Amino acid sequence: MPTIMLINLSYIVAAVLFILGLKLLGSPATARRGNMLSALGMLLAVVVTLLDHAIIDYRWILLGMVIGSVVGALAARLVAMTAMPEMVALFNGFGGIASLLVGWVALAQPQLDNFLLLTVFLSILIGGVTFTGSLVAWGKLSELLPGRPIVFRGQRLVNVALLLANFACGAMFVLDPQQPLWLYLTIALSATMGVMTVIPIGGADMPVIISLLNSYSGLAACAAGFAINNNILIVAGSLVGASGIILTRIMCKAMNRTLGNVLFSGFGAAAAASDKIEGEGTALSAEDAYYVLEAAQSVVIIPGYGMAVAQAQHVVKELQEVLQQNGCEVVYAIHPVAGRMPGHMNVLLAEADVSYDLLLEMDDINPRMETFDVAIVIGANDVVNTAARDTISSPIFGMPIINADYARSVFVLKRSMASGFAGLDNPLFYGKNSRMIFGDAKETVNKLIREFST
Ligand code: NDP
Repeated sequence: MPTIMLINLSYIVAAVLFILGLKLLGSPATARRGNMLSALGMLLAVVVTLLDHAIIDYRWILLGMVIGSVVGALAARLVAMTAMPEMVALFNGFGGIASLLVGWVALAQPQLDNFLLLTVFLSILIGGVTFTGSLVAWGKLSELLPGRPIVFRGQRLVNVALLLANFACGAMFVLDPQQPLWLYLTIALSATMGVMTVIPIGGADMPVIISLLNSYSGLAACAAGFAINNNILIVAGSLVGASGIILTRIMCKAMNRTLGNVLFSGFGAAAAASDKIEGEGTALSAEDAYYVLEAAQSVVIIPGYGMAVAQAQHVVKELQEVLQQNGCEVVYAIHPVAGRMPGHMNVLLAEADVSYDLLLEMDDINPRMETFDVAIVIGANDVVNTAARDTISSPIFGMPIINADYARSVFVLKRSMASGFAGLDNPLFYGKNSRMIFGDAKETVNKLIREFST
């Protein structure tokens, strides 16, 4: 049986592994190692906790490890790259319900003081909101629930009333823990609050919500850690809580939107009718585009959500190689919210084995944009919408964009003149140096590659 000192030492090692893991997750090149380190930290924490006071013996731990590893490996192998946000939503939800249950079980302790009861209430409140909120997010992402925002009159009032009622029940629960009614009411109200918080948010904003719910799941774990007096749960919960809120902030900043706007505005529900641009963009055939690309010395590829839809990442990599063989410099410009989840483009391009050092972030590429012969925009729209930079009246004015229009020529690969997620026209498509190459991105890129080989 490990001593208290040994347990706490192991917890410190686990906490260091979590922090190192988080640090390594900051770059695609080291992310795998970061993930392994964090997982190792969690394994150490769980094993040490379970051995503590011989809660269960090592045979059960081994069995749990085998079952957990098989489920984890299968899930990682079977889930499609495009379904990753759904999987993360479910993970958060499970984290929330686990904290709720741990908080509940903490009531079995012989001594129940007010602080402990408060932490139990908090783990149930935050865990419950996270659980049902994540299930709704999962439903919206997997299209089992309607993706559009569900809004009704007085919605905010209902939400405030739910919160106040929940606090009142929480207070009664702390004052009279022997009466189970307050506990059950708190559970029911928290579960309802989770649903009510997520239904007014549009499907395309789900990644922001998932990252926020991730932060909540950390806070719930932290509260549960206090409830059962477990140091490593408090540390792990705080780390998840803090990193989730940092990621949420980064995403909101990259869209130039406040969290309040994401949570309450029903953004993306309807296309803005104002700022409509009259006219047609100038179309170009893949055959003609080839002549320009054949002569280009430098090309920047700007991928967006449409590349994910077309699953064009592998052919894009092929085009990159063909251009490079032709003596052309090729880099990729990655906007932080291109696609529908943080790192979406990085993940897709990594899947196609595109070298990490060719991926340049918005702030690194923008100062160099004028030096590129051609910018190829592949299924991106909002992240290259010049209205965000030039049109004060635009709803996305102020959102940082990749300045594709500063390149000498711009090729836009998409199927039509349709707007992107924000529902806005894009002046880039009408620019003097812009050419629209209409069609599915994968087919168009394939055509370009074929032109090079004939
Ligand atoms: P957009 O959604 O703005 O535009 C995508 C474009 O892809 C569409 O205009 C569409 O045009 C085109 N497209 C779709 N399918 C295909 C296809 N098969 N072949 C070629 N083109 C296709 O994407 P962006 O990546 O530019 O911007 C992302 C948006 O999502 C931003 O507004 C961002 O704020 C938002 N968002 C992103 C989050 C994130 O974490 N990444 C989180 C929340 C929101 P057409 O139909 O004409 O083909």
